[in-house]
Amino acid sequence: MDDDKLIEEAARLISGAGRLVAFSGAGVSEESGIPTFRDPGGLWDRYNPSEIGSGDIFAEALSGSPIPDATFQFVSEFISCFEKTGPNPGHEALGRLEEMGILRAVITQNIDNLHREAGNSNVIEVHGNVYRLACMMCGNRVVLDRDEFLCAGRDLIECLGKNDLAGLIKLASRCNCGGVCRLDVVNFGEPVQDLPRAVLEAKNCDLMLILGTSGVVWPAATLPGHAKKAGAKLVEINATDCCFPDIIDVGIVGKTGVVLPRIVELVRGMR
Ligand code: NAD
Repeated sequence: MDDDKLIEEAARLISGAGRLVAFSGAGVSEESGIPTFRDPGGLWDRYNPSEIGSGDIFAEALSGSPIPDATFQFVSEFISCFEKTGPNPGHEALGRLEEMGILRAVITQNIDNLHREAGNSNVIEVHGNVYRLACMMCGNRVVLDRDEFLCAGRDLIECLGKNDLAGLIKLASRCNCGGVCRLDVVNFGEPVQDLPRAVLEAKNCDLMLILGTSGVVWPAATLPGHAKKAGAKLVEINATDCCFPDIIDVGIVGKTGVVLPRIVELVRGMR
């Protein structure tokens, strides 16, 4: 099938879906200026994951060991992306599908908050969210708004650059209990968040959109398999290649920021 036919087929499936769920990865935010991990020029092209450490900079700083250069560069680059990012047409298309009463949930591996900013309300963030802090003492979560996050991000980069441990602790002391907070994101080797809810959504959907993910990060990558096993149809959109070729029903090679708005336009006409 050519691209137009595949896009029409995807729109037909979405239009007839009873319970649509999207499963997204870093590719969906690439057009918002946030680099992916595994594309050419992506973060893993420029940084060696083994040199970055666990990713838990606070724990590493508190342990007294100096922050490795690679960690500083990586964290600085990632945080700086948020100075100018925002939802792109792909995120917005998913927001419109929810508005139309079709999309029930977005399960995302992204930590960038962009699905929420685009209007999706049932967002399951299996790898956490950079705008949230979690107290390491009482577990309480503190949600930062964009300006607070950017301000804290700039301060964090400055403290890391100067190896300023006291500054880092001051920056992280935000919980009412007096405890020190860390970013509420899943670092390497840590358990994912909300997995039972994500698996339930995957098992209960009748159509899953798989968007901009290489499908290599576990256990998130098992979610399309759960959906398929429970009888759902699967539509995948990926800029370079489909990563779930054995189980998908429709595979579209293209950017989500281009393909999703076209699909949503067709769905509008079909309902
Ligand atoms: P990945 O980097 O492993 O793979 C990205 C995939 O997206 C690739 O298959 C690529 O072909 C595809 N892609 C790139 N641009 C695209 C576009 N415009 N439209 C459609 N597809 C596109 O990403 P992953 O599978 O999500 O796994 C990486 C992990 O890194 C995740 O766990 C995630 O938590 C984290 N991460 C998050 C962000 C973010 O929050 N925006 C950014 C980088 C990494």
